[in-house]
Parts: sequence; structure tokens; C-alpha cells
Amino acid sequence: MMKQELEHTQTTGGGFLGWLGFGRHDDSAVAAQEYGKDMVKQARTALMQRISAFLLDNGLEVTAQNLTTAHSVFTGLNPGLKRRIDRLAEEGQPVTQAWLDLATASDGERDDKAVDKLVDRLEQGIADFSRTTADARNATSEYGEALEQHVDHLQAVPDAGHLLTDLAEYASAMLERSRKAEEQLRQSEEEAASLRRNLDRARRDAEIDFLTGLPNRRAFEAYLEKQYREAKSAVEPLSVAFCDIDHFKLVNDTHGHEAGDRIICIVAKTLAQISDDKCHIARHGGEEFVMLFRGATVDDACAKLDEAREMLAKRKLVNRRTQQPFGQVTFSGGVANVFGYDTPGEALAAADAALYEAKEGGRNRICKA
Ligand code: GH3
Ligand code: MG
Ligand code: MG
Repeated sequence: MMKQELEHTQTTGGGFLGWLGFGRHDDSAVAAQEYGKDMVKQARTALMQRISAFLLDNGLEVTAQNLTTAHSVFTGLNPGLKRRIDRLAEEGQPVTQAWLDLATASDGERDDKAVDKLVDRLEQGIADFSRTTADARNATSEYGEALEQHVDHLQAVPDAGHLLTDLAEYASAMLERSRKAEEQLRQSEEEAASLRRNLDRARRDAEIDFLTGLPNRRAFEAYLEKQYREAKSAVEPLSVAFCDIDHFKLVNDTHGHEAGDRIICIVAKTLAQISDDKCHIARHGGEEFVMLFRGATVDDACAKLDEAREMLAKRKLVNRRTQQPFGQVTFSGGVANVFGYDTPGEALAAADAALYEAKEGGRNRICKA
């Protein structure tokens, strides 16, 4: 939390006041002030009022995290969360801290570009360190060999007297130190190699969702960008889908959070069954999944996803702890043609909108954007 707060202040520049637009002004802000001082002020006041009303009405603490979240909701930066909050409001339910934390838990993943940078720097540091120690070890080793030859020569000289004996002893001591240094450097090299292995593992772990073992949103975003570029140059269709478990809150409320987790895993497995080298699935967060279909039109992708939907809807799932039936577990999905939009992000938003239609239309169905 501290780190996020710190990073937030750094990235926005000028701290909390700057973030609200009250801080140091750049040229465009000065111009805006000249032409529409009142309007800008009014908009900011309205934004602040909405943020404060949101926090106060829901009894939420005024923390940097909550302010940032509220800011992203009321400036339109996070339409998905806005919709979910609106839905809660329609149902007359408050936004609790626990709900907000859960809803924004996966959002944090998106902001970890800073972590990526740190990891890159660490990796660079390890590479530099390895190179330096290897160079130093080679130099030490060469130096040691040269010294060894000299010592041999010195010791071979007959009747060299005290001076030469002392010199030979001194050289031997130097040689011993050089060997120790070489050994220490070798250990450092091994440590650097082990650090690199740990870093690689941590990097892989950061892209896997711990509950389902599926790639997470962070991994998916990188994958989407890569597939987008490749499919574009190969002139192949590319479709993206958003899936969301229906009435999942009810599962949690009736059977408990742990049983809810198991349902998430079952849905993940069902979706994973249709995934192959052309169909990639990830847990987007909560009870939402995202899928990318390479070489598939929207209709192809819909048909494939519908198979998975049907498979799940037919199952009669029982809570193994209580033997109580879960009832029909279903999910809804929205599919969009990635190249039908300016950016992959817009296509994702369109798939999300189609998912919303599927929910509105009665759930347990797949809609096209
Ligand atoms: P809808 O059909 O409209 O999608 O209704 P819903 O109840 O599925 O949707 P809503 O967004 O109201 O509720 C989703 C719930 O999912 C709320 C949250 O507590 C729960 N949830 C999110 N992540 C997890 C998780 O990792 N494990 C469990 N057990 N529950 C989770
Ligand atoms: Mg949801
Ligand atoms: Mg749901």
C-alpha cells in the first residue's frame, strides 16, 4: 500500500493537489485557465464533490487508494468498475471496503509497470555483476598464473640469499590471496546465476493466477499485444471474449467463499477444455475470464464458447463438503472482432459490453459485439 501511494505521487507529479489539478500548472493548463477558468474550476469542483459524496455515503475511509479508485471511476478511466458500482447502487447496496478491495485487487496488476522497470533494472544489475566478476576472476586467475611462474623461478635460483627468499615468501602469500579472491569471485558468479533463476521464477509466478493456475490478466495483456501484431501481419482473424459466472455472489452467499473458489476453478477448467494453441484463456480477475481466439471469426469464437457454456450448464454440481447441490452453474460471454476496433483495448471493451447484453438478456448465453 505504501509503495503504491508513493508511486502514485511520483507518477502524477505535484502530489495530491497536482492530481486534482490544483498543483503546478503547465502551459496548456495556463491557457485553459485564461479561456475557461470558471468552467475548469466548476468541473473540478463537481469531480471533488462526486468523489467526496461517494466516500462519505459509503462510509469509506479517505485513503490514497480509495481516492485513486474513486478518481478513476468518476473521470471515466475505469468504466467497468463504474458499471459495477452503479449496479450495486441500483440494488440499494453500499460499496463496502471489502467489496472495493476485491474489485480493485486485479487493477493493481495493471499498474505494475514500475515493478517491471525494477525487475529490468535488477536483471541488468545481475548481468553487469556477472560480467564484472567473470572479468575480475579471469584477470585474477591470469595474475595468479604469472605469479606462480615467478615464484617457481625465484625458488629455483640457488643461493639467492635472504632477499630472494623473503621475496619468494611474499610472492607466495600474494598467490594465496589471489587464489582466495578467485574462489570468492567464483562464488559470486554462482550467486548471480542463482539470483537470475529466482528472478525468472518470480517473473513466471507473477503471470500465473494462484487459484486456477491460469495465466492472469497481466500475462493476457502481453499475450494479446503479441497476437494482435502477429495476426495483423498474417491477415488472420482474431476474436476476443469476456466471460463472467452468472449470479456468482449467490454461490458465495449460499455455500461460502471456499466453495465459490472451487466453482471458479471448475469454470476455469471447462473453459480450458476448449483452449488450444489457437485459443488462449486467462483469469481476468474475480469470476471473470478473458479469451483470445486466433484465426477465428466472431461466429467461430461464439460457437466454440457456446460449447463450453453448454458443457457447464448441463453439469449437476454438488458441494462436496455439504453434499448440497450447487444448482445450475452457468456463465455468460461477450465476443468481439479485435480488428473491428482501433485498438485491442477497444475490442476488449466491446466484448465487455456484449457480455453485459448477455447478462441483460437473461444470462447463460453468448452475445456478439
Ligand atoms: P452477475 O450474474 O450479474 O455476474 O452476478 P454476480 O453475482 O456474479 O456478480 P457480482 O459482480 O455482483 O458478484 C461477483 C462476486 O464474485 C462478488 C465477489 O465477492 C465474488 N468474487 C470475486 N472474486 C472472488 C474469488 O476469488 N473467490 C470467490 N469465492 N468469490 C469472488
Ligand atoms: Mg463479475
Ligand atoms: Mg458474475
